[in-house]
Amino acid sequence: MNTINDIDKDILWKETLERIKLSVTLPNYNAWFLPTHIVSISQTTSGYLINIGCSSSFVKNTLETRYLGFLQEILKNSLQKHCELEFSVNTNPNKITESQSDSPLFESLINKTENIDNKVISCGLRKGYTFTNFAVSSSNQMAWAAAEAVANNPGNAYNPLFIWGGVGVGKTHLMNAIGYTILESQIDANIFLCTGEQFTNDIVEGIRNKTTQSVRNKYRKLKALFVDDIQFIAGKDAVQEEFFHTFNALINSGGQVVLTSDRPPSEIAKLEERLKSRFEAGLIVDIAQPDFELRCAILQIKSKEKGVDLDMETIQIIAANINSARQIEGFLTRLITEIKVKDIEISPSYVLEMLGKPEKEEVKSKNSKLTPEEIISKVAKYFTISKKCLLGNSRQKNFVVPRQILMYILRVEFGLSLQEIGKVIGGRDHTTVIHAVNKIKKLISSDVNIRGDIEGIKKTFL
Ligand code: ADP
Ligand code: MG
Repeated sequence: MNTINDIDKDILWKETLERIKLSVTLPNYNAWFLPTHIVSISQTTSGYLINIGCSSSFVKNTLETRYLGFLQEILKNSLQKHCELEFSVNTNPNKITESQSDSPLFESLINKTENIDNKVISCGLRKGYTFTNFAVSSSNQMAWAAAEAVANNPGNAYNPLFIWGGVGVGKTHLMNAIGYTILESQIDANIFLCTGEQFTNDIVEGIRNKTTQSVRNKYRKLKALFVDDIQFIAGKDAVQEEFFHTFNALINSGGQVVLTSDRPPSEIAKLEERLKSRFEAGLIVDIAQPDFELRCAILQIKSKEKGVDLDMETIQIIAANINSARQIEGFLTRLITEIKVKDIEISPSYVLEMLGKPEKEEVKSKNSKLTPEEIISKVAKYFTISKKCLLGNSRQKNFVVPRQILMYILRVEFGLSLQEIGKVIGGRDHTTVIHAVNKIKKLISSDVNIRGDIEGIKKTFL
């Protein structure tokens, strides 16, 4: 059994980070865990109290709301005792700043990456879309997990994998990440990615030039075929016919098929029934619009990729004002061009101005016009229950779920602290709030009704 003197907090945290790395995606690891360290460990009657220092209040909030249980579990495994955690904003005094780019390991990694990059292009994949730079949150967790499973076991996990969702939610990115991972483990794998439109053009050209057979050979011998925006082939009889046979041939020979679309198969008008039923025989997953935290993570990834370092306040301002991942990219490009042309430093007020916000507003400017009381009223009205029942102690499901959704919305959409939420919903403590927020986050990725309710409530805020 460890006594407090046996524990070297830096070694413990190093080992803990190694374990965390195995359980979360690299962007999440880099964003939330890397900028942390242990400030202090003290003994309590039941175990240990560990204070975790976080580089910013944003990292602190995220760890408290999203990863508290996860961290407790990992530390309990290491220390064999219950661990209470508290978080503080505190920079790491031992931060390692040395560059790793001189090491031979790093060099061989670069060579490997260059080889794959060349291959990526010849397979029709887009460069730079990998799992490493794909951030995960409740809105895309199911799709991400399915994509990882397919990437690690093509042809055997889910076949076909059908990913659908609105514009800019990351379908194309995720599909490319699967292809990239397959190439990483087998550089000469015969895989191909095209859009529904490119597939259509290939088939039409094959018919026109009487080269249908060679087009068939190209597609039917693949180890994996990715068709982005498959809805494009709907209503085109000859193309659907060809795709049907390609699909069957590929699946029968153990090949993997991954498809994306803006809607589920059942809702694609003029898509042949036999294709619908083939698509439905695999796994269908959807990706919802990114929530605030995911938008922040995407901003961190994209700004780093573009070589700019945005501070957390700026990131939060942008994430609060732009809802779609695609617009985030556009905005970042504009921002970077502006600062280069005008040779200025990025500041929160400058970003607000670019966003068309006249004055420095609260971070959640769009939503901040509403007070917590107004939000409570709107949620109660949406579920047609009284405020008293919504905030009360009844354990009836038709009150508990709206109460949990209310806590989720106050936290994720309005950025209220756990303590503030506890106070406005009838004096509950912050662990109740964490539990509720986490529960709804989990349900969002599996329960369409919950997601529909949250979207419905959000519409009443507009
Ligand atoms: P879709 O195909 O669903 O319209 P894309 O895959 O083209 O969307 O994504 C739009 C942009 O947003 C891309 O630059 C992509 O890298 C980025 N993006 C979307 N979701 C994520 C995510 N979870 N993590 C990182 N980047 C993302
Ligand atoms: Mg796309």
